[in-house]
Amino acid sequence: MVWRTARRLDEALAGRVLTRCDVRVPRFATANLTGQTVTEAISRGKHLLIRTDAGVTVHTHLRMDGSWRVRPASERVPGNHRIRLILGNDTWQAIGYLLGIVEILPTAAESATVGHLGPDLLGPDWDPAEAERRLRAGPSRPVGEALLDQRNLAGVGNIYGTEMMFLRGVSPWRPVGAVDDLNALVDLGKRLLEANKERDGPIVTTGSTRRGEQTWVYGRAGQPCRRCGSTIERAEQGGPGEERVRYWCRHCQT
Ligand SMILES: [Zn+2]
Repeated sequence: MVWRTARRLDEALAGRVLTRCDVRVPRFATANLTGQTVTEAISRGKHLLIRTDAGVTVHTHLRMDGSWRVRPASERVPGNHRIRLILGNDTWQAIGYLLGIVEILPTAAESATVGHLGPDLLGPDWDPAEAERRLRAGPSRPVGEALLDQRNLAGVGNIYGTEMMFLRGVSPWRPVGAVDDLNALVDLGKRLLEANKERDGPIVTTGSTRRGEQTWVYGRAGQPCRRCGSTIERAEQGGPGEERVRYWCRHCQT
């Protein structure tokens, strides 16, 4: 997940002077950050921000196919048309492949790019009250849509959102305004993300890492509910262009 990518980049780059900066997207191809010291690499939702002591931020987003690899600085990087960005120091080089977004901007202008995101569940500035306030601003909206809207809180993907609603007994179609204990739902989301952030492989919400036992309802349409035995249902939710598949138990979630 993005949080772990950010941590890997932070470990390789933070506190070290950039000795290599190779930006292979036309708009920033002449950008040169060598000589600047990376202060930190962090994730905001699915965005990655690498900041330097010169007040510059490298903003990237993995989108569908992007990835970062960290290799020793001494290793030769083969020519590869999928590489979008290389940032290196004396010890490490971080190579970004097929990144959906690569841009270089003043750190002070970050909010114009990612400021629309709600509080990040894994961020240092996590603010549950602000997340709840944003959710409650749309009381008639189905909670399944509101929870997944990254402007309300950043970091909840479809698997987490689906599982959070099951565990709290909340139907994806219940309006936000009818969820009294929204704070408990948000708090649970944070705990699920925290429990998974170090893990390689699939998201686990049940406590069991065994294949087929990792989720309560997500991906289990037609199978029996682990709590009540009712058949797990599946339907699409969201406006045009934003449809996402929801799974839920009609008996356990109202
Ligand atoms: Zn059930």
